[in-house]
Amino acid sequence: MIKMIRAENLKKKFREVQALNGISFEVKEGEIFGYLGPNGAGKTTTIRILSALIRPDFGYAEVCGINVQENPTAVLENIGVLPENNALYERLTGREILIFFAKAYNIPREEANRRINELLKFFGLKDRADDPVGKYSKGMKQRLALIRTVLHRPKVLLLDEPTSGLSPEIAIRVRDLIKKLAEKEDVTIFLSTHNLDEAERLCDRVAVIFSGKILLIGSPSAMEKEIKHVIIRLRKISEPMINALKEKAIKFHISGEQTILLEVKNYSKEVPEVIKILVLEGAEILSVEPERKSLWDIYMEAIRGE
Ligand code: ATP
Repeated sequence: MIKMIRAENLKKKFREVQALNGISFEVKEGEIFGYLGPNGAGKTTTIRILSALIRPDFGYAEVCGINVQENPTAVLENIGVLPENNALYERLTGREILIFFAKAYNIPREEANRRINELLKFFGLKDRADDPVGKYSKGMKQRLALIRTVLHRPKVLLLDEPTSGLSPEIAIRVRDLIKKLAEKEDVTIFLSTHNLDEAERLCDRVAVIFSGKILLIGSPSAMEKEIKHVIIRLRKISEPMINALKEKAIKFHISGEQTILLEVKNYSKEVPEVIKILVLEGAEILSVEPERKSLWDIYMEAIRGE
């Protein structure tokens, strides 16, 4: 599998603030990689290093196999960057802005027109392309900014909080477009966000970043497979059952006459053991339901653990 982004032990300090404190990760070709963290975690700083805007104090960054510090121009040709606060010229029309950037990327005129029309259609902006951007809604401006980002067919997109400030229904639309774009354009996406829902729905893998450090990396679905609780329903809970569980130092809570909530660390080891104890004490088990951790649980645990 080709690695489209590699970061190795990146460190960056701004005066007293250690914005990045040894960041390492890799993004595979075709992945949508989420960079999830609260305000001030170091997300924008990472994107600025990957897009050659600032240099790290320490460490190494590579995009599309190119050393970012040694060859920033080549990196810029291969990436599309959507900054956090993306200002567009309000007096120009959407199309005029895109033509301006197409020229900056040296895209031949005819090809640029074809590409612009194709993207305006894909992003649902064709009918408003000739209106001044000042008249666009926030969601439309963000879609236009995304077109600008992919105009020159970059291999890697760096999107800094692409749905921040958008209303929920527009954010869903923009997320949907990003997902479709990744497939249509065959592009690798590095996306920073503090929105758990966004990370969960959009990303193949997510890194949780906090205070300039990555706390964990994995696919949201694999992370969520971790089981936190098991709810066991049985005919009637008796005193001997409770005593037997206590004797084995098993963590549990009783809720009502029929429900035991188990706290588990190792599902396949602990649950059969508990079932055995309950059956030996005469329980008639009605159901055993694992309760999986949500990305929210995992994120909060990681951050609180710091
Ligand atoms: P947000 O979600 O609020 O955009 P972030 O995760 O993108 O946050 P960064 O912008 O990377 O976080 O900032 C990380 C830390 O570095 C913060 O404490 C920030 O104040 C500090 N920082 C970033 N850039 C600078 C700078 N140019 N000068 C001084 N401090 C900076």
